[in-house]
Amino acid sequence: MRCPFCGNQDTQVKDSRPTEDNTSIRRRRFCPQCAARFTTFERVQLRDLVVLKSEGKREPFDRDKILRSMQIALRKRPISEEQLERMVNSIVRRLESSGDNEVHANQIGEVVMESLAELDPVAYVRYASVYKDFREAADFNEFLEEIGRDPSELPLPGKKKSTKKK
Ligand SMILES: [Zn+2]
Repeated sequence: MRCPFCGNQDTQVKDSRPTEDNTSIRRRRFCPQCAARFTTFERVQLRDLVVLKSEGKREPFDRDKILRSMQIALRKRPISEEQLERMVNSIVRRLESSGDNEVHANQIGEVVMESLAELDPVAYVRYASVYKDFREAADFNEFLEEIGRDPSELPLPGKKKSTKKK
């Protein structure tokens, strides 16, 4: 596993154990080159999902996009890495068991919102306000791509950067 900080190809596993719900293996890794520590998760993938975007385009499902968008909504909230990991797992599981290899981008957004509503009300409001605003202008995947590009530019409530609708 490559070090995400310095790119070194040779990192060491320091600790390896199942997560609380036993659906994945959590590994603590160490990079001998830059001394960074990071965590990886090994989990089951039931099927390869394809995301159907509103304009009819398709792209491979990307679990990390969901994770990143939730991390942003949960910024500074008292939710552990493992709680979030479990939540993303259950979201992916729900999408995978929907019976179809294609999922609509909107469907992903709705499931993420439902999950955040359960996990943390503040994060839910943050996510919902960004998502619902955005849905009028473009599709959810483009929103996620935005997040991938520059999370600090996201107009989260409380940041006093968003433009009010008139
Ligand atoms: Zn490194």
